[in-house]
Amino acid sequence: MSGRMGKDSSDILPSLFGDTLPEAGPPTHVVPVLVPLPVAGAYSYAVPDGMHVAPGSVVQVPVGPRQVIGVVWDGTSDDGVSPKLDPKKLRPITLAFDCPPLSKEMRDFIDWVSAYTLSPPGLVARMAIRAPAALDPEPMVEGLRYVGGQPERLTPARSKVLDLIREQDVPWTRSGLANAAGVSLSVIDGLTQQGVFETVFLAPPPVVATPDPDFVAPRIEGPQKQAAEEIIASIRGGGFAASLIDGVTGSGKTEVYFEAIAETLRRGKQVLILLPEIALTSSFLERFEQRFGAKPGEWHSDLSPRIREKVWRGVVTGDVQVVAGARSALFLPFENLGLIIVDEEHDPAYKQEDRVFYNARDMAVVRARIGDFPIVLVSATPSVESQVNGLSGRYNTVHLPTRFGDAAMPDLHLIDMRRHPPERGGFLSPVLLRAIAKTIERKEQALLFLNRRGYAPLTLCRVCGHRFQCPQCSSWLVEHRFKSQIQCHQCGYSERTPEACPECGTLDHLVACGPGVERIAEEVERHFPDARTIVMSSDLLGGVKRMRLELEAIANGEADIVIGTQLVAKGHNFPLMTLVGIVDSDLGLSNGDPRAAERTFQLLSQVTGRAGRTGLKSHGLLQTFQPQHPVMQAIISGDAGAFYEREIEERQKAILPPFGRLASLIVSADTRADAETHARGLRAAAPKVTGISVLGPAEAPLALVRGRHRFRLLVHGRRNSDMQGFLRAMIENGPKQRGSVQIQLDIDPQSFL
Ligand code: ADP
Ligand code: ZN
Repeated sequence: MSGRMGKDSSDILPSLFGDTLPEAGPPTHVVPVLVPLPVAGAYSYAVPDGMHVAPGSVVQVPVGPRQVIGVVWDGTSDDGVSPKLDPKKLRPITLAFDCPPLSKEMRDFIDWVSAYTLSPPGLVARMAIRAPAALDPEPMVEGLRYVGGQPERLTPARSKVLDLIREQDVPWTRSGLANAAGVSLSVIDGLTQQGVFETVFLAPPPVVATPDPDFVAPRIEGPQKQAAEEIIASIRGGGFAASLIDGVTGSGKTEVYFEAIAETLRRGKQVLILLPEIALTSSFLERFEQRFGAKPGEWHSDLSPRIREKVWRGVVTGDVQVVAGARSALFLPFENLGLIIVDEEHDPAYKQEDRVFYNARDMAVVRARIGDFPIVLVSATPSVESQVNGLSGRYNTVHLPTRFGDAAMPDLHLIDMRRHPPERGGFLSPVLLRAIAKTIERKEQALLFLNRRGYAPLTLCRVCGHRFQCPQCSSWLVEHRFKSQIQCHQCGYSERTPEACPECGTLDHLVACGPGVERIAEEVERHFPDARTIVMSSDLLGGVKRMRLELEAIANGEADIVIGTQLVAKGHNFPLMTLVGIVDSDLGLSNGDPRAAERTFQLLSQVTGRAGRTGLKSHGLLQTFQPQHPVMQAIISGDAGAFYEREIEERQKAILPPFGRLASLIVSADTRADAETHARGLRAAAPKVTGISVLGPAEAPLALVRGRHRFRLLVHGRRNSDMQGFLRAMIENGPKQRGSVQIQLDIDPQSFL
């Protein structure tokens, strides 16, 4: 497995840092240290005399010529060295950081994730210490304290300062005091010189204020109250308990889990809220603030390093009580975690498919079990896995079947595209266009949903049939007309949209095939030239900042028609949105993924759920070529129960998750032959055991990505089979990994491409 994950320079400190440290005393004993490298276990290091480390201590150690950040681990290091070994023969730890050690709970969690995902433990541990600059305490800030007395000369400005500081006799920062008193810094400095103030050192201000569980009194009743009480009872019971809040969009699920958070805060424990796409849900943070009087700490990749460091530090020291974050927040080393909420638990964004392949929803349950505290999963369309856990009694399910207040669910209808075809060159049926017209006449908003970025998913030459393909991947280049580019959505390769066909040279004969959101926007503008339209898609210029502003603009009614990808589907509350049109409801149904039906059902429910959240009458129209498909029927009948029952039955018959287990291996190499040979070798090395079988190798549907040829093996096992043992044996007994060959192991895969 080694070599499948690249080294990351962010772990490597400038060697200068290590060199300038004072000489440590002679080594006294040996400890195992996990280093951020793709190796199977810990390395041994000597502890210099006078240095104090314990399991969980974050340290800096040499690896070859470099210095890396590692974590002192439990047990003995397994590079053949026992603690009895002569410490003088080992390289010493360079430095121990002044930060609380990772708790036993956290270390057990890291070991567990490593064993389950078959990822090197050092790479899992690395996810817990992502912010190296936070490893030492933040420096104190200089402040001023009033010592009494009067300056020689009392100017009006000086009086202002003195009045203020006598009223609020606490230490101030120099600039804070100047600002609050409305005077210049020189006034403050003058008073300091005269001995009216003395300099003191203050703890740096916290990154977020402390949330107050009773900031606003709970205002819940009826089914919400009942649901909250059940969950709070499980918190009071102490220990691990998993609950599932299954409630339609707008039923008030958030309000219910806020009560669970309040209860946990009253018990003095920290809370983690996992959310998909947290970077875009600023409305969530505001709502949290309205309820608790302070914002939660945020954790996602769009934060500045400075804020991330502060949040990390606050989490470790216990100063930050609540974090709302993306999946990576699960690896934050909380000091005293007492509750995890996984909102939109069905969301595919919880699966990481890079380096360490893990599902944050599943690993969150593991973390709660190891920490022996409760977890609450939340969804309007729970995953089949969680439904089954609910049915078997492993999770306590609470239901919220209706929307809060007088808001009703949207009226949903299918548009049979065979009977109501769009005009030539268009993608919107006359039925949908009429509905849009009526909606904007009423000064309400329409959302058109299409989960495809760009203008057209495929471009070809009308004369010779040439198709534009990525030079490094087996995928078509997607035209992005706003940027005048054709792009690969696998690897990001792009080129200017050509005018002539590179194959036959004909000018101006390239045709766009199929729609992306940009093309739908063009069609909308043709039909509704006076309407204000906004296209929302993650690739548009301006990044997260612009998207946040646009989401706000939509919520404020500054757009009539919104055309968007799944970005707009998640968690937003648009008060005027009364029509949701799904441009291509069939899009996700035929991609060979065993979860295709479930996924489509979830996405369509979620998108149509954007409509009518404030009581206005609302509609959802789904364009489809397969109106009889069970997913379409489930959506319009509103009978989610029947749909899930069937899905569960089919999974059970086929022994698919959660009734069976899957793992996928992707073997990639610079040449097709190398990848295929290695994949065949692995297959041949598979142990013969009952209950586990190997499918493949077969060329992956995405046969080429970034110039690497890919073959897939799918391992299928019964529910209680030892999948990890099987895979380890297969790789150990398999061919030696040579040259450019890499293996990616994905336990519980969600992607089959
Ligand atoms: P969900 O999370 O199930 O989609 P929300 O919690 O967002 O639902 O609630 C939907 C809307 O109803 C929100 O605007 C929310 O402010 C409002 N709401 C829910 N519960 C209450 C309550 N108990 N009191 C007042 N407003 C509520
Ligand atoms: Zn590509």
